[in-house]
Amino acid sequence: MTTQPERVQAPVCTLGEGPVWDGRDQSLYWVDILESRVHRMAADGSFSSWDTGQPVGAVVPRASGGLVVAVRDGFMALDPASGTLTTLAEVEKDQPGNRMNDGSCDRAGRFYAGTMAFDESPEAGALYRLDPDLSVTSLLTGVGTSNGIGWSPDDRLMYYIDSQAHRVDVFDYDPATGQIGGRRPFKAVGEGDVVPDGLTVDADGGVWVAVWEGYALLHHDPDGQLIETVDLPAARVTSCVFGGPDLDRLYITTAAGPGESGGALFVCEPGVTGQPSHPFRG
Ligand code: CA
Repeated sequence: MTTQPERVQAPVCTLGEGPVWDGRDQSLYWVDILESRVHRMAADGSFSSWDTGQPVGAVVPRASGGLVVAVRDGFMALDPASGTLTTLAEVEKDQPGNRMNDGSCDRAGRFYAGTMAFDESPEAGALYRLDPDLSVTSLLTGVGTSNGIGWSPDDRLMYYIDSQAHRVDVFDYDPATGQIGGRRPFKAVGEGDVVPDGLTVDADGGVWVAVWEGYALLHHDPDGQLIETVDLPAARVTSCVFGGPDLDRLYITTAAGPGESGGALFVCEPGVTGQPSHPFRG
């Protein structure tokens, strides 16, 4: 059973998003998309942050060192020591009304991340995959707001959220090639302004979905049945990830908005463990 989420005394974000756990040094990274910031909480509880110069939708550790960020104009390497940004691959740079949004790496270290229009124009977004050879493949077009991405523990399924569809979808996923297919609905979430945002998949295959304007995180079993609802004192719950030495702490990001703690970082112990976050292997 999930413990009550506790607020972490971390920097408060305008649009906190995209938490990822770096098991190498037991640190948590997350982004403040609209403030163009990457934040880090180290194992000793200290905080650091970096300016990405453009809105940043996602951050992942890089196996060869440093970080990779998905920013407005594409994928960039971020050297935490110097703060230097280096373009790895441009994505929709010719579409200034679009920016990259949520993303995550699979077990092979491929970085999947999507795009959306700043003004949330329908079908303006897409989903991309950055492979370790730094090539970019377009996987989906006509996406509204490309958001949470995660994989089943057996690497047979990829879960995916287009927030504007009010739905979590699931694809068949080939771990050898990174190809996806057979898209189908997994779970409908919300209506109107209440939409699914980020997600994580736990070690039992449970699918945790952050609900924007929903004050909640929803825990589903692998069949899509709602197991429990974790309530939060912030309307805009944006994403979550498991961390800690035993991957038994669930970190939850939020955005500024209704509720007493919008933009804060939270942690709870759900009584299940997560899958490790994977680094980009390029
Ligand atoms: Ca998001």
